[in-house]
Amino acid sequence: MRFGIHMPQKGGFARNVKRAVEIGCISLQLFVGNPTAWTPPRFDDEELEKRRLLLAEHGVYPLVVHASYLINLAAVKDEFYQKSCQLLWETARRANLLGSPYVVLHVGSHGGRGFKEGLSFFVDTLQRELENWPEGVELLLENTAGGGTSLGGSFIALGSILHKLKGAPVGVCFDSAHAWAAGYDLSSKEGVDKTAAELLEHVGIDNVKAIHANDSSTPRGSHRDRHAHLGEGYIGEEGLKAFLSYSWIDEIPVILETPEMGTKWDAINLERLRSFADNSATNI
Ligand SMILES: [Zn+2]
Ligand SMILES: [Zn+2]
Repeated sequence: MRFGIHMPQKGGFARNVKRAVEIGCISLQLFVGNPTAWTPPRFDDEELEKRRLLLAEHGVYPLVVHASYLINLAAVKDEFYQKSCQLLWETARRANLLGSPYVVLHVGSHGGRGFKEGLSFFVDTLQRELENWPEGVELLLENTAGGGTSLGGSFIALGSILHKLKGAPVGVCFDSAHAWAAGYDLSSKEGVDKTAAELLEHVGIDNVKAIHANDSSTPRGSHRDRHAHLGEGYIGEEGLKAFLSYSWIDEIPVILETPEMGTKWDAINLERLRSFADNSATNI
């Protein structure tokens, strides 16, 4: 497993990379722009190339790029939909320049279309978008907390998207707190085994290319996305240990998205992550 944190945006890129490496990160995740705004930052390609070299110098791999929360590839309003496609494409282009092999995207919401139509609209959009996709960048669909009109809360939905996009550069990023909020049990070995069996059946373990290792501060099935410091939430230490011991693919990036990022908590949570994963055979 290649442990890393979601890097804060404040504080300067070089300084944040240095700090992350000092506390033991060998992979990282970041946003390439403001996650709640449509306009990407005005970094030129040269700056992105500098950043790519800096990450390589520090041996940080892989870099995972998280797409903006605003993007919804099943949006009903045309303006929103067009902006979503455009921003996703720009995010992938930037990920490529940064040397990142993965762009993580939330599956989004059907916005009133209904689940079946929403999913097929989402798939049709991706099929088209992936035609002009930069080589070497894979789109990872992140499971979400589900509920309401959300399309990404169930493994069945994720699996059906992957099935329809067979052969395309698409995989899954598994977020433990989101799965918990969507109703999957991860709080014990039995819970993890049952959840993993469902994941295996519908998604396939080989399709899971990245992990967000988060605890949750909301009860199971709450459909609310609130992360907790590792071991202090409802999933807890026992559950996280079982989750991290599962036979994920080798060298999988395991990213922390815990509260108070950019503070001493990064080092504390990273240390907990290491110790919880200690019994994992694929641990580096
Ligand atoms: Zn996410
Ligand atoms: Zn996540």
